[in-house]
Order: sequence, then C-alpha cells, then structure tokens
Amino acid sequence: MSNIIFGPIHSRRFGKSLGVDLSPGKKQCNFDCLYCELDPAKTMDAYDDVVSVEEIATAVKNALAEYKDIDFITLTANGEPTLYPHLSELIDEINTFKGTTKTLILTNAATIDDEKTQEALLKLDEVKLSLDCATQKCLKKLDRSHSGIDVENIKAGMLDFKSKYTGPLVIEILIVKTLNDSKDEIAKLNEFLLQLQPTRIDIGTIDRPPAFDVKPVSFKELLDVSHLFDSTLPIYIASRKKADISASRYSNEEILETLSKRPLTQEDIEALFDEESQKRWKQLLEEEKIKRVSTNGVIFYKKV
Ligand code: SF4
Repeated sequence: MSNIIFGPIHSRRFGKSLGVDLSPGKKQCNFDCLYCELDPAKTMDAYDDVVSVEEIATAVKNALAEYKDIDFITLTANGEPTLYPHLSELIDEINTFKGTTKTLILTNAATIDDEKTQEALLKLDEVKLSLDCATQKCLKKLDRSHSGIDVENIKAGMLDFKSKYTGPLVIEILIVKTLNDSKDEIAKLNEFLLQLQPTRIDIGTIDRPPAFDVKPVSFKELLDVSHLFDSTLPIYIASRKKADISASRYSNEEILETLSKRPLTQEDIEALFDEESQKRWKQLLEEEKIKRVSTNGVIFYKKV
C-alpha cells in the first residue's frame, strides 16, 4: 500500500523524518478530538482494518533505500498508532534494518497503562505522548475519548512508563480556547508534570482547520499559559502562530523578567522582541546574564 509512507518531512527538531501511517485505510482512533484534522469518526478500542507487519516493514525498508539520510522513522496513524495490534512485532522488524536511524512514536497515550503498549514503546528511541487534559471532564469534552478510558489511568501509566524508559520522553499539550486553557486545568496539568518530569513539554495550539468549530489561542495567550506552569518545567512553545504576533519593545529588565519566567527559543525571541530588543538580548547574553541551555535537541535561552 503506497500511502503507508509520507514525507520525508524536514523539521528543526527531528531533521529529516519519514512518517509511517499504521492505519492508512481510514481513521481508527480511541479519541475523536474536537481539534482533529481528520473527519469525525466513531471511536474504537481495536483496529478492524489491519495492514500486515510485512507490508508496513517493506514500505519502510523501500523508503529508507529511496530517501537517504533519514534521521527519524516516525510511527503515527490516521488515528492512534498504539491500537495497531502488531506494534511490538513491527518495531522488532524495523529495528533489524533501521541502522542508525532513530525511531519515534506520536501517540495520544490513552493506552499507556497497557503492558503491551509499554513493551512496544520501550523499544523506541524517542516517545512523544499527548496530554491535553488532567481531568476526566476535560478529556471527555475535548478529546471525546472512547468509553472506559480514564485520565487517572493514563497519568498512572505515564508515571509507570517513565520509570522504565531511558530515552527522551516528550509530552505534547494542545491548547484549545475555553476547553483546556483555564487556570484550574493548567494547575492540574502542572501538578502532574512536576511529578512526571518529562524530557520536554511542547505546548501548541490548533494550526490547521479542525473538524469542529473550536478556536486556537493566540501566541501571546500560549505564552501566558506557559507562565502558569512551574518555571522549572522544560516547556517549549511549539506553534506556527508565532508569525501572527508583532514584535514589541522590551527593556533589559523586561527581557530578564520574561526569560526568568519561561526559557524561550531563538524563534520565540525573534517573534516577541523587536530589533532593538533583540540587540539588548544579545548584549545580555554576552554579559552572561542570560545563558543557552539545550533540552533534547532544542536550544533555549534563560536568565542566569
Ligand atoms: S488522537 Fe489524534 S487522530 Fe485521534 S481524534 Fe485526536 S487528533 Fe484525531
């Protein structure tokens, strides 16, 4: 099936990444998120349309031969990749020929408390888990999870997985206006993330037209949300919305104050600070009042 592979996609974070769709025929998911880019579909707890391990592995092998220098093989799906029934076997197979190429999965984490999911994910080089909500009410409303999925089990599963996994564990939070941006919801997410201590937390918002009429937050609102989290958490604002904001003037004190609340990437700084303020930021960097830190491949600037 030719639509198993997509990309390669270039990104600053993952370099050249080859996407692998474990559900190329149709959407098969245990969530039906309000912000999903795919058409709404009935949720399920197991795929009913399953492509063989051989077919997927062959497609990956051929793509690796065709596109040289792939940095990441990214397991994803038109839906949820951990519902693929032969995930562990597929990863074993990919590991036999991937060489130095790294493997990554993007999952909604609804099955992370399942032993079978953990067994498969432990064999990957990097794992990215979504966590939009820390409360069941929010999960039901925003992610419209399949019956029986409990946010407390997801959180417990994440903690259990983190205790065993040695690779980078990244958490992705998608902020949707009025649905999971309240102070209460963020406080609960914050409390849990302080316990989990993931390698990095990417917070973003809706970048593409979703299935339902839900609204993104602005870059400024994302930044405000990021300030609600504990400043020790490695939060990265991953949003294309940066282009929407106009750069402002920041004094030295304001630059230091901003970077003490939340470390920012060069991209954030270029979006937020006007030209003069960027010069001031560089000067502060030279004076070692600001330092560069690298978190799982992303460079941040923070107040010393
Ligand atoms: S988990 Fe992903 S694929 Fe599933 S409904 Fe949500 S956004 Fe869509």
